[in-house]
Amino acid sequence: MTCAVLSIGTELTRGEILNTNASWLASSLTDLGLTVTEIVTVDDHEERISAALDRLARTARVIVATGGLGPTTDDLTARSVAGFLGAPLERDVPSLDHIKRRLEQAGRPLTDSNAKQADVPRGAEVLPNAAGTAPGFSVRVRDVVAFFLPGVPREMERMFHEQVSSRVRQLATHDTYQIKLRTFGLPESTLGDKLAGIEESYPGVTIGYRADFPEVDVKVRATASNQAEARVLAERAIAEVRPRLAPWIYAEGEENFAAHVGRLLRSRGFTLALAESCTGGLMGHMLTIEPGASDFLLVDAVAYANSSKAKFLGVADDVLRWHGAVSPEVAAAMAEGVKRIAGADIGIGITGIAGPGGATDSKPIGLVYISSAGPSGTVVREHRFSGDRLQIQTRAAYTALQMVRTICLDVASTRELLK
Ligand code: ATP
Ligand code: MG
Repeated sequence: MTCAVLSIGTELTRGEILNTNASWLASSLTDLGLTVTEIVTVDDHEERISAALDRLARTARVIVATGGLGPTTDDLTARSVAGFLGAPLERDVPSLDHIKRRLEQAGRPLTDSNAKQADVPRGAEVLPNAAGTAPGFSVRVRDVVAFFLPGVPREMERMFHEQVSSRVRQLATHDTYQIKLRTFGLPESTLGDKLAGIEESYPGVTIGYRADFPEVDVKVRATASNQAEARVLAERAIAEVRPRLAPWIYAEGEENFAAHVGRLLRSRGFTLALAESCTGGLMGHMLTIEPGASDFLLVDAVAYANSSKAKFLGVADDVLRWHGAVSPEVAAAMAEGVKRIAGADIGIGITGIAGPGGATDSKPIGLVYISSAGPSGTVVREHRFSGDRLQIQTRAAYTALQMVRTICLDVASTRELLK
């Protein structure tokens, strides 16, 4: 079934903000099994909004629009839709009560412009907005269903999940079932090579790859006449995909790599201490943007200067002098030092040359040593990462997380063996 995304807002057409709603919606609708044929952006202008609706309603069965539902005079979406349908705007009482309650909680009076947000075209189905003030609504235009959601991404996403996706799914004649595998460690092309032949063996199954640097998502999508059949087909195909990519798959679904590693640490009851140099705290940042890192992360020491590596991590001056700060010896001493000082189960040391300066003949940009000091000893790995400064730092932080993951999984498999 075809579908169009309509983004409404002058800030979008002026290029003031990035249209993240459109890509988020297009991808969510695709995941639901719809074919998104157009993404259109118009400014906050009544005739142009109506004209866009009129045109899209001729080609798409579903339209999902965002923006222009706010209280300001430049928010014209509801009025434009009403004009287009030839229906008057009517104030929705439950929405007005909701707006009043939210304003009361914030200690603000209800103004006319706030109340205006409760106006929807007559006959529209109101979509309550639990995360904000302006409700959304849906209308039928000929045999097309159009949804209008607020522009604020957080509000829009929640309303889509809670109210729009189930309605859209009911409209679809074919259903899809998708399983998303999250991988780290192989480039897209190699992943593709490893899965050669699967689409041919399972008609109705397509495999999509999406690089989300430095991870790659592998989406196995099956299409069938109903969701149960699509699910069976997707699961048959994924049973063949999984073993081919096993070492590189870290999760299925939405979990990100740092959250996954955090979960492993927590489930093993391990504590972690980090000593970061060239990554400048990035690894700690990745772990702490997920809630709950205090369960396992004892310290993230950003020891940038050589003197700090000696003073705070106990790296011997001799080791620094002899081998240089970017060396396997220093990486190991950082990992062991931070582990000992913090009293952690696992210590990580990262030292390298992220560029663009700092390289020598023997130590090029991208040379990074990462060490893990864990329950079964210390390991150091040398890496030659490519890319710009941020890419090198990101690859290094991910690779260090991968080392933590390996320790957790090794311990798990050893425990399994001892059972
Ligand atoms: P509000 O009640 O906040 O006015 P609204 O439904 O009227 O909500 P807009 O005024 O169009 O929505 O946008 C509100 C804010 O949401 C914008 O300032 C912008 O930060 C964000 N926003 C709007 N449209 C998009 C979009 N397509 N992609 C990303 N962000 C957006
Ligand atoms: Mg607005």
